[in-house]
Amino acid sequence: MNMGEKNPVISNVIGDVVVLGLGRTGEAAARYLASLGSPRVGSVTLYGGASSTPGEKTRALEDAGVRVVCGTEEVSGSYDLAVTSPGIPLDSAFARSAAACSRELVGEVELAFRESPERWVAVTGTNGKTTTTSLTAHLLATAGMGARTVGNIGTPPTEALAAGRAEGEWLVAELSSFQLASAPTLHPRVAVVLNVTPDHLEWHHTMEAYAAAKERVLANLGAGDLAVVSVDDDFCRAMASRAAARGVRVCELSVAGEPAGPCAAFLREGRLVVRLDGVERELVDASDLQIFGLHNAENALAASAVALELDVDVADVCHGLTSFSPIEHRIEPAGEVAGVRFVNDSKATNTDSVEKALTAFDPGSVVILLGGHDKMTDLSSLAAAVCARCRVAVCFGEAGERIAGALEAARADGAAALEVLRAPHLREAFDAAVVAARPGETVLLSPACSSFDEFANMGERGRFFKRLVHELAGGEA
Ligand code: ADP
Repeated sequence: MNMGEKNPVISNVIGDVVVLGLGRTGEAAARYLASLGSPRVGSVTLYGGASSTPGEKTRALEDAGVRVVCGTEEVSGSYDLAVTSPGIPLDSAFARSAAACSRELVGEVELAFRESPERWVAVTGTNGKTTTTSLTAHLLATAGMGARTVGNIGTPPTEALAAGRAEGEWLVAELSSFQLASAPTLHPRVAVVLNVTPDHLEWHHTMEAYAAAKERVLANLGAGDLAVVSVDDDFCRAMASRAAARGVRVCELSVAGEPAGPCAAFLREGRLVVRLDGVERELVDASDLQIFGLHNAENALAASAVALELDVDVADVCHGLTSFSPIEHRIEPAGEVAGVRFVNDSKATNTDSVEKALTAFDPGSVVILLGGHDKMTDLSSLAAAVCARCRVAVCFGEAGERIAGALEAARADGAAALEVLRAPHLREAFDAAVVAARPGETVLLSPACSSFDEFANMGERGRFFKRLVHELAGGEA
């Protein structure tokens, strides 16, 4: 860790700390704090939560000097700082109990930022965060700059700090609305807001509250920073104008038109164009990217705007854009059997991401697999898109019947020819799709639902789908 980078405004002494959560984030935060030692850190106590039990991990933490408390969410004692993990809602009894016996409660991202506040890029949005975060880091790395992805994407930022932050290295952070809500002083050099569409309403209750949580990423930007914000949805457009009104430079991101402002990132005749302070750079054609669909062009535009703002030259941006390949479970080619292509988009856990994914395929050529855990979101827009772009939909899992009903209603309205099939689980849905698909078509797993009714997570679901393709190909795919 580069200890020369502490924010001078924040006192060097952290004091006694309580960390919440025994996942990767809680463990990283506790280890990092324990490694700081006295006089900066007096003690580190970690509460694992109600279902946590002692084991190898807790013993290793204790060896590192952390006091571990398992099996309860009632925090006792007196602390200078409480550090939460992203999985713990701020209004949960656990977080409130920690806040009640601490002078301050922050998220792990906030702790990392306070420790090392230089050279952060923050990426948020409902969809596209991981792709944009990875691509941004890839563009910086292509130019020979140090860049590390952190946050929601995998590595907790305190784990990155513990590993040592190299001279000049950028942290490109993928941040969820939960992480932003507990990072009050986070001040990235560039912040990206890709889109705000319905998701996680079981937590945020209203779209306005959800959008406000995303907007927090812009809260501390100043005149020397850049906000890259979509102007293609109403919530983001409103954020962009509020940031601009505060004097923040806003790069208007659009795949629907050509924004007029001095900073913009958009498509012109299929080519990616970024304009910063009135200077326009033409990059590559969207068709030269290995990541497909209009939404990925949007992600590429956002990442390019960040890289150009950080002085990566145009040739490196272009090279990085064309050398970046799809990330697992995101419109990931999964093989071809008997002329039928299989594509794994298991990461599409909400309706908007499915609608976007469908733009990557020729209309009428898709057999889509839809279903999983039902998040009870509105299905009308999804149903219209599926009717317009798919030939067959196979609906499965807990949400299967509700989706099939919505598709049939939309089909009746629009006189579309969509064939709607039903299957209990993903395996049977896959078999039905294989029977239905014709050579030249694509079987697309882009389920619009989370996976918890049948799988541990979307990764397991995607790998299961790929295994089915592999088996279909006789183990040769
Ligand atoms: P996140 O990290 O925000 O979940 P990912 O990059 O992992 O985003 O992409 C998740 C899914 O969201 C993809 O499978 C794709 O279908 C969809 N998606 C990706 N980028 C966008 C975007 N810019 N707008 C809308 N949907 C997108």
